[in-house]
Amino acid sequence: MDERKVRESATFPPHVIAEIQRAASEGLYYIRGSGAKRAVPTFDDLVFLGASISRYPLEGYREKCDTNVTIGTRYAKKPIELKIPITIAGMSFGALGANAKQALGHGASAMGTSTTTGDGGMTEEEREASSLLVYQYLPSRYGMEPDQLRKADAIEVVAGQGAKPGGGGMLLGQKITDRVAQMRTLPKGIDQRSACRHPDWTGPDDLEIKIQELREITDWEKPIYVKVGATRTKFDTMLAVKAGADAIVIDGMQGGTAATQTCFIEDVGIPTLPAVRQAVEALKELDMHREVQLIVSGGIRTGGDVAKALALGADAVSIGMASLMALNCNAPIYEEDYHALGTRPGSCHHCHTGKCPVGITTQDPELEKRLDPELGAQRVRNYLATLTLECQTLARACGKSHVHNLEPEDMVALTMEAAAMARVPLAGTDWIPGWS
Ligand code: SF4
Repeated sequence: MDERKVRESATFPPHVIAEIQRAASEGLYYIRGSGAKRAVPTFDDLVFLGASISRYPLEGYREKCDTNVTIGTRYAKKPIELKIPITIAGMSFGALGANAKQALGHGASAMGTSTTTGDGGMTEEEREASSLLVYQYLPSRYGMEPDQLRKADAIEVVAGQGAKPGGGGMLLGQKITDRVAQMRTLPKGIDQRSACRHPDWTGPDDLEIKIQELREITDWEKPIYVKVGATRTKFDTMLAVKAGADAIVIDGMQGGTAATQTCFIEDVGIPTLPAVRQAVEALKELDMHREVQLIVSGGIRTGGDVAKALALGADAVSIGMASLMALNCNAPIYEEDYHALGTRPGSCHHCHTGKCPVGITTQDPELEKRLDPELGAQRVRNYLATLTLECQTLARACGKSHVHNLEPEDMVALTMEAAAMARVPLAGTDWIPGWS
C-alpha cells in the first residue's frame, strides 16, 4: 500500500467525517453523555519537585500527613468535616440508577467524605447511605423540597456545570420511569430538559438574595456552596464570594454529564487547570483564600491530580466520571451490550440511552441488577482510599505534613501551555510564559 494514498486528513479525521455524515442524514445535533474527548492541557502536564537536599521529605511509614478539611467555615453554624479532600460530585437519581447512588453514598461515607444529589431531588436511599450529603439547588427546581434542604448537610446552588456552562441538563424519555417522573412532577417517558438559568435570577444580586433565603430556611446551619462551570472563572468566583457563598465549586470542561449536545461538551468552557488558578487568584484578591473553600472538579482521576489541584490552592476536589468508572463504567464486561449500543468498552459515552451495559446510568431493573450496591460501595471506598494514599505520598515527598501545605512552588510544568495556565515555571527554567 502506498501510504500517501491512505493518509488520513488532520482536518477531517474519520470521526469528523462520520459526524458530518450523521448530521447530514439526521438534521439534528448529537446528544451524548460523559465528558470532553478532545485533548486539553491537564494536570498531567505538571510534575512535582520531590524533596532531596534543598527540601526535607517525610517518611511514609512513620511521619503523618493529614488529609482532613472543613468546608463552610465562613458563615455556617455546622460546617462539614471531611476526612479526605475528595468528594463525590452531583449526579442525579434519574441519570443514575438507585443502586449507583447507594453505592456512591456508602463508599463515600466509609471514607468520611460527602456525596451530592443532582437534578430531581433526594432519594431516601441516598440520604440513608450518605453520612454527609450535599443537596443541589438547580435552575430546574425539579424535585426541590424545603424539607430536603433541611435534611441535607450542605446546599450547593448550581449556576453551571463544566460539561455545559450556559446550558441545562437533559434526561431522555427512556430514563423517565414512574418514580423519576413522580419525583420531578414530569410526564413519564417524555424527554426532559432542565433550565439553563434560575427562574428568579436576573443578575448577581439575586444570587445574594437566594443565598440569604437558603440560610433562613436552614437556620444558618448548612454551608452554602455555589457551583459554576469554568468559563470566566475569576469574575464568577468573586461574584459568588460577594454574594455570600461559603464554598465555591469550579467544574472544568472535562467534567461529565448524563446527556447534552456534543457541541457543549467539546466546545464550551475552559480546562480545569487554568480554572483552579483563576479561582485561587480571585479568592486571594478578596483575602478569602481558605476562608471560602474551593472545591475543584472536572477530569480528576488520580491521587496525582488531587495533589496538583490542592497544590494550586484548592481545598478539596470532587469526582464524578471517575467514581462511575470505579463502579465499572467502561469495564470490559457485558461487551455484547456495548456493541449493541454501537460502541465498545473504553469508548462508551452512552449514558443518555438509559441502556448502560454495567447498570449505572439506567432505570432498567434488569440492567440495574448488574451493579451490586455493596460491592460497588467497596470499590468506591477502595478507589477513594487509593487516591488519598497517592496524594499523601506526593505531599510527603515534598516534605508536607498536611496535603494542604502543598503549594505551586512544589511543581513545574512540562509544556508552555500548562506553565502559562497554571502559572508555574516551565521545567528546568524560571520562566512562566505570559507572566515573567
Ligand atoms: S458504561 Fe454506562 S456509565 Fe459508563 S459511559 Fe457507558 S453508559 Fe455511561
